[in-house]
Amino acid sequence: MKRFAIAIDGPSSSGKSTVAKIIANKLNFLYVDTGAMYRAFTYACLKNNIDPKDEEKAISLIGKINISFNEENHITLDGVDVSKEIRENDVADNVSYISSYKDIRVELVRLQREIAKKANVVMDGRDIGSHVLKNADVKIYQVAEAKERAKRRYKENLAKGIECSFEDILKNIEKRDYIDSHRAFSPLTKANDAIVLDTTYMSIEEVVNSILKIIKDKGLDL
Ligand code: C5P
Repeated sequence: MKRFAIAIDGPSSSGKSTVAKIIANKLNFLYVDTGAMYRAFTYACLKNNIDPKDEEKAISLIGKINISFNEENHITLDGVDVSKEIRENDVADNVSYISSYKDIRVELVRLQREIAKKANVVMDGRDIGSHVLKNADVKIYQVAEAKERAKRRYKENLAKGIECSFEDILKNIEKRDYIDSHRAFSPLTKANDAIVLDTTYMSIEEVVNSILKIIKDKGLDL
């Protein structure tokens, strides 16, 4: 049976997950947060006292840990819901090292492709349109200015009661942008056939409507 796939890529905090979740809901597709998988791997390293900068030790966890999504679509590590833990600062600070290791990417991409084989998906990440699902039916590359992205993340954290400073968030976003787009294997990049959406001055609703229109214009029979 033909599966539909919508790929939404872009830099950190460009609003991909917010928009992807809404679209998945509207279309009754499965939302797949691939960033959560890299974060869960990072969390597993920290929990096992492995320095995420130590590639050899980090990749030794492949095959020993189990990362998946539960029935509520929450990320789990060895069956335990870690959706809260993966949002902590120490994970955000280290995830770009983990996601730059080829062996870890190969393993997580394998899991991502397996998920997309079994369901219609809206998958967000950095390399979905360019690498993971090269044949995705719709590819969006969602960007926004770094300061605006930091502002959004700052507000989000405050609402969740997470203590943080705007400057630290901006620094973390800029650092992740740099590492994510400069890594050797499968860097953050726009697929040739992706449509760019600059959301700096757009509301969530406007972004969602633009993407729904792109989906419709593609003639997808949903
Ligand atoms: O999307 P989120 O910000 O949660 O992703 C966390 C990190 O995971 C990114 O900064 C990036 O290093 C990595 N990532 C990736 N490829 C993906 C998704 C996320 O390298 N497809």
